[in-house]
Amino acid sequence: MPFGNTHNKHKLNFKPEEEYPDLSKHNNHMAKALTLELYKKLRDKETPSGFTLDDVIQTGVDNPGHPFIMTVGCVAGDEESYMVFKELFDPIIQDRHGGYKPTDKHKTDLNHENLKGGDDLDPNYVLSSRVRTGRSIKGYALPPHCSRGERRAVEKLSVEALNSLTGEFKGKYYPLKSMTEQEQQQLIDDHFLFDKPVSPLLLASGMARDWPDARGIWHNDNKSFLVWVNEEDHLRVISMEKGGNMKEVFRRFCVGLQKIEEIFKKAGHPFMWNEHLGYVLTCPSNLGTGLRGGVHVKLAHLSKHPKFEEILTRLRLQKRGTGGVDTAAVGSVFDVSNADRLGSSEVEQVQLVVDGVKLMVEMEKKLEKGQSIDDMIPAQK
Ligand code: ADP
Ligand code: MG
Repeated sequence: MPFGNTHNKHKLNFKPEEEYPDLSKHNNHMAKALTLELYKKLRDKETPSGFTLDDVIQTGVDNPGHPFIMTVGCVAGDEESYMVFKELFDPIIQDRHGGYKPTDKHKTDLNHENLKGGDDLDPNYVLSSRVRTGRSIKGYALPPHCSRGERRAVEKLSVEALNSLTGEFKGKYYPLKSMTEQEQQQLIDDHFLFDKPVSPLLLASGMARDWPDARGIWHNDNKSFLVWVNEEDHLRVISMEKGGNMKEVFRRFCVGLQKIEEIFKKAGHPFMWNEHLGYVLTCPSNLGTGLRGGVHVKLAHLSKHPKFEEILTRLRLQKRGTGGVDTAAVGSVFDVSNADRLGSSEVEQVQLVVDGVKLMVEMEKKLEKGQSIDDMIPAQK
């Protein structure tokens, strides 16, 4: 598995047909959108930092599919990637984000008071609640393409900003480099820290170059507000706790995130954002809010029901395994989260999770008693 993209200008001495990747066995959004025509048109373009079409698509070429999720199959290397390779990104974004059009405008709502309910997900089923998003610092290339110097600068800026937080957000930075193997593994096992760079998706996109240089985790004292530095995005901001109080998790997420944004802005380093794409992030699946609000929920019966997948789809939810995106569910514990991130607000997306999970827990209880859930299955939207 390659650890990065290599620039090779000799490729332009070959015909597009001779360079075009074999996508015949592929099932990802990029493979569906890329054509030889488009490749011909875009392959000699590059962004100001030097990201090319071949860099955009490499992860999708090397990873034809994924056992658990439908992958996007491409990444951005910098903010400009979405403009320079717009003709490829637009159909992918449309396909991944429920028909979101190039003329559509994204909305933001980080007022946690607008969320209805969410403080009473049954903790007998909902083991933990979590909301995360990504943020990119304007002016620096994104993880698939950043240089070592850029990555270290992002780390320095982030640690300075985060260390100025106070009260419930007061915390400390733990660079990967100065952690013992055991400390790192414990944080991973407790679901606080990103995995080691084992995912082929991460490796093939170039995000794992120079690992563990300038990577780390910052968190508050009770590990309920955490920030990953330089994993898939410059920043991943996470609020989480055990049990089913999504309302409180979302409150802490919104308040902490807005404090961070304010500090960066004041320091002259705003986040990448525009009206159409919302917050600009590495993976097109995260554009918009970048938000994944989810719970670890035990669904022993429902997960075996023939309509499980259909119910998730109709509720606009997705499932992952217990240990994250590359894992299977252990003991019927699934990570159930919002499927959409673009075109609807943070509040709307978390509301879908709260309402959807509540319904699924009710279904689970019915199935436990041997009753039918046929009349509870939501209609196709
Ligand atoms: P993401 O990149 O969207 O944050 P991943 O699927 O890569 O999520 O998982 C990252 C880590 O977060 C994993 O350890 C996973 O188990 C953990 N995680 C995700 N959702 C929850 C949740 N609701 N409760 C506890 N841990 C979670
Ligand atoms: Mg991840």
